[in-house]
Amino acid sequence: MQNRRDFLKTAAFAALGSGMATHSVFAGEDQSPALFNINKSGVVPKMKLRFFPYELKLRHVFTVATYSRTTTPDVQVEIEYDGIIGYGEASMPPYLQHELGTMDSVLAFLKKVQDTIDQFPDPFQLEEILTYIDGLSIGDSAAKTAVDIALHDLVGKLLQAPWYRIWGLDKGKAPSTTFTIGIDTADVVREKTRECAEQFNILKVKLGRDNDKEMIEVIRSVTDLPIAIDANQGWKDKYHALDMIHWLKEKGIVMIEQPMPKEQLEDIAWVTQQSSLPIFADESIQRLKDVAGLKGAFTGINIKLMKCTGMREAWKMVTLARALDMKVMVGCMTETSCAISAAAQFSPAVDFADLDGSLLIANDRFKGMEVIKGKITLPDLPGIGVVKI
Ligand SMILES: [Mg+2]
Repeated sequence: MQNRRDFLKTAAFAALGSGMATHSVFAGEDQSPALFNINKSGVVPKMKLRFFPYELKLRHVFTVATYSRTTTPDVQVEIEYDGIIGYGEASMPPYLQHELGTMDSVLAFLKKVQDTIDQFPDPFQLEEILTYIDGLSIGDSAAKTAVDIALHDLVGKLLQAPWYRIWGLDKGKAPSTTFTIGIDTADVVREKTRECAEQFNILKVKLGRDNDKEMIEVIRSVTDLPIAIDANQGWKDKYHALDMIHWLKEKGIVMIEQPMPKEQLEDIAWVTQQSSLPIFADESIQRLKDVAGLKGAFTGINIKLMKCTGMREAWKMVTLARALDMKVMVGCMTETSCAISAAAQFSPAVDFADLDGSLLIANDRFKGMEVIKGKITLPDLPGIGVVKI
């Protein structure tokens, strides 16, 4: 592949040959974006979108109160432009399909994009393209995310820069990721904690049942590592929630995610105002429009690409939350290293990261962000930083 300067030069000369305006071609480093519309053959490339279902195989059975599962439905997306391919992904865990979309709805949505994306001549016009994509339907957030990630990967590759650099972030500041210890019998939890404590710097535990304190005591019998708690709306009474938070603070817990049901926003605000630990919204938030309304009720927000329609909106949510003096964390679904690496691109800007999704699957298609000594480690590759394996 020719390097970018050669590409621009060739494109410039092709433009000259075609009689197009090339006012700044001879300024050397000047890089008029209009030149991206013509390739070395002197033709205007078009974006082409491809997609196919890809079932994620989980390493361990995933169990929640109502059911167990061993797979997650997923769709892989590619956008090709002038010989360069950007990768994207939609993950649709069954318990969230009402919010993210189903396999059928994702495929139908992507077909619409496939039929119309060639109307946009310039992949750099992310704002215009993604506004159009968002306007195609009301929901379909996972499908929209897949297109958004693929476009970001493509544009980063055209610029030959990873997104953390385009956003001006220092990859050395990427945090450690949490890793979730599943709820199980005391013996199993003790064993899992022992394993995880060697590989991670911060653990995550899902509470909200009647054995909450017992679970924490079991984990604390093995390790002193910081622990993030996700109550998953499990505490229904605000006094109980606050008691739990005081107790958890004494046990070295560092943050609480979604202590109470999203319908009880006033109770959550009451808890947050008195809490000695930061309280993060997860079920209470989906997109950019939700952020400002949570100021005061939560200390911070959990941003997940599959919920918020992708990297572009995620970055706006980071910016808005910071402007509102709120904290930020990044979370995920079970996903391949494609979507996980996309989310990891803005992780240097967050307070907590929960990006263990690709570690939970047995059939990853990509190598990208890696967890090294517990820390999110971003590759120097352009775009979202992945290569197919
Ligand atoms: Mg959560």
